[in-house]
Amino acid sequence: MNYKQILQDIHKEVSALKNTSEVANYIPELAKVNKDQFGIYLNNINGENFEAGDADVTFSIQSISKVFSLAMAFGSQGDTLWERMDVEPSGNPFNYLSLLEREKGIPRNPLINSGAIVVTDCLVSSLKNPKEDFLQFVRDLANDQTIDYDYEVAASEKDTGFRNYAIANLLKSFDNLHNPIEEVLDFYFHQCSIAMNCKQLSNAFFAFANRGVCMQNNTCIKPKQAKRINAIMLTCGFYDEAGEFAFEVGLPGKSGVGGGIVALLPNQYVITTWSPGLNEKGNSYYGMQALERFTTQTNSSIF
Ligand code: GLN
Repeated sequence: MNYKQILQDIHKEVSALKNTSEVANYIPELAKVNKDQFGIYLNNINGENFEAGDADVTFSIQSISKVFSLAMAFGSQGDTLWERMDVEPSGNPFNYLSLLEREKGIPRNPLINSGAIVVTDCLVSSLKNPKEDFLQFVRDLANDQTIDYDYEVAASEKDTGFRNYAIANLLKSFDNLHNPIEEVLDFYFHQCSIAMNCKQLSNAFFAFANRGVCMQNNTCIKPKQAKRINAIMLTCGFYDEAGEFAFEVGLPGKSGVGGGIVALLPNQYVITTWSPGLNEKGNSYYGMQALERFTTQTNSSIF
């Protein structure tokens, strides 16, 4: 399969689509990003890699970080994590509040904000230096020690993160947040602010496609946990568009409002796209278009 050509053709074809999507603006710092950027990076289990467009431009990974925090917390505390959240799709936007009220403070899954904030709370309880330890975990997954937080994005979200404060308060009222709200959200905003490019993200997700074994050949994630996290990505990785992503693309994956999408075919490859223009559900418009074309043309989805 000539992946290089396929990616370049898809990049060209999708770039020509009329793009009425919008950059996320509820976090002021993200609104400054130029919408006309578009990168794709693919790495496969045999160690080959291919790219097209802006694959080495860093961007805010936002909700894609929820997969990393989940992997870290699941790794250290195992199945007790599921006493505090469920693994069902929510069918609602990432920052939706009323479901949490109705379900008495038990988030539907770890990939919506409420679930991710509980995961963050678990990490605050278990880690000595949560921000440093989490960043190191991501750097090791990606095998790249240059990855860092974007402190301006974190501060910008902290200033305007009213819905996340509401979620944290609701969780606290149901006794499902054990540490101080300020401390948990400060860590949550930082983890969302991590800046990475398509290549670094594909490398960091290699372990999820490779039964938990990272590119450096050591086991970073327990194989049975990698399997479960992939299942959660498939059913919950795209908020109220998880069904649409499975229907159009057919891979486990995770999106973020920075415009990134990572998707993977277990035992085969990881593909990351980035384009900051979002559709009305908060997922990258070009990214969804590109991934649909990719799995259709290469005939390679989990279905
Ligand atoms: N930091 C963002 C928030 O909490 C993440 C949302 C996302 O990427 N969908 O609102």
